[in-house]
This record gives sequence, structure tokens and C-alpha cells, in this order.
Amino acid sequence: MIITIDGPAGSGKSAAAELLAQSLKIRHLDTGAMYRAVTLQAYNMGLFDTPYRDAELGTIAVNMKLTFDWNTQPAKILLAGQDVSNALRRPEITEMVHWAADNTAVRAELVRRQRSIAAAFGDLVTEGRDQGTLVFPDADYKFYLDADIQERVRRRRAELDRKGLLVEASKLLSDMIERDQRDRERPVGTLKLPPDAIVLDTTTMTLPEVVATLVKIIGNNTHG
Ligand code: C5P
Repeated sequence: MIITIDGPAGSGKSAAAELLAQSLKIRHLDTGAMYRAVTLQAYNMGLFDTPYRDAELGTIAVNMKLTFDWNTQPAKILLAGQDVSNALRRPEITEMVHWAADNTAVRAELVRRQRSIAAAFGDLVTEGRDQGTLVFPDADYKFYLDADIQERVRRRRAELDRKGLLVEASKLLSDMIERDQRDRERPVGTLKLPPDAIVLDTTTMTLPEVVATLVKIIGNNTHG
């Protein structure tokens, strides 16, 4: 069973995908982390200070040793055997990730890896921007999570707060508007609503409410 969850940044899809996967006892694939991993590797190599970044990113994606340790919940993300789960969330990586997300060679390689992970496990909750549209058009369930932009900013701020990083709400809002626009306008892997997706506006919902709604929809359809 393949379940896709797409939606903009801050819509609550990562946390919901993880808890849904736990409840169904299947794996959760965070595809945003894969774009972040390409970015982290390029960042560590100093590639963003050179004019070659676009040409090199595809090679990095093809050659990077990215693995998931599915024995933990959420899965640990390993780059060349090193746990980079936290490093991937660093603000400088968030700022640079659009280079990887806009790169067609990177996208082709990551889509290939996502499909191969799904083929290996059979069951997967996979979450990102293009999962229900491009990567798994035949998924068993497709969800699209959205929320009001002010609420998405509030959530992102709370998340950064918990890590001791204080960022102005106005800066977060302008970053979020820019990221939304890039995600909706890139020529490949565009964030859009899959025509057959179930849409959930999570603005006024708590995380347990979101997960319970998803579980119920899947349970209702699977058991009659
Ligand atoms: O979801 P997250 O913020 O971790 O994703 C990081 C970036 O990767 C996003 O800004 C988005 O542009 C990109 N992305 C993508 N396609 C996906 C998942 C993420 O382009 N399937």
C-alpha cells in the first residue's frame, strides 16, 4: 500500500506522515530530507561558493551514500554512514535547498530512489511535494495537507523556538512566501494538488486530529 502526502511547508505533513506510518506499522519516507541531503553534501564541499553548483549537484545526487535506518522512529537519515537527521534541518540548508529542488538531474535521481524504496518495501507513507502527482500517480491513497500561511509560519516559529533559534515572524513569513512560490512554479516536481487527492485543511486541527482523520479514511476504505 502506497500512501502519498503532499503539501506546502508547515502544513503539518511530516509529523502526520510519521504518526500515520507508526499507526499502520509501515515505513515513512521524508522526501524533503533527500533534497536536503544533496544540499548538505554540496554545502560541506563548499559548492555553493563556486559557479559550478548546478552542474555538480546532479553528480552529488547520483553518488551520495544516502541510507535510512528504519529501526528507529522516525527513521534516522545517514549520509556516508553518519547520522545527519538534525543537520539536515539547519537554517542554512533550508535556505540553499532550492538549488537541489530546482535541478532536473537531482530530481530524476531522487525520484528513481524513491520508487526503488517503495518497490523494496511495498508499503510506504511517502511525503513531499510531487509524490501523488509525479512519483506515485497510482498510489492507493493520496492526501494533500494545507493550512493558512500565518498558521504555517506560527508552527515553523514554534519548531525553531524549541531548538533555541529565534527568528523574526516577518522573516519567516517572507521566506515561506518565497518557498511556496518556488515550489508551485518549478517546471518539474511542481507542488500541485493531485486531482484524486483528499484535501485536509489543518489550520485549526491538532496533530492527533489530523492523524485520526487520515487513519479513519484509510480504515473505512480498507475494511468496508
Ligand atoms: O519538506 P522540506 O521542507 O524538508 O523540503 C525541503 C525542500 O525540498 C522544499 O523546500 C521543497 O522545495 C523540496 N522538495 C521537493 N520535492 C519533494 C520534497 C521536497 O521539491 N518531494
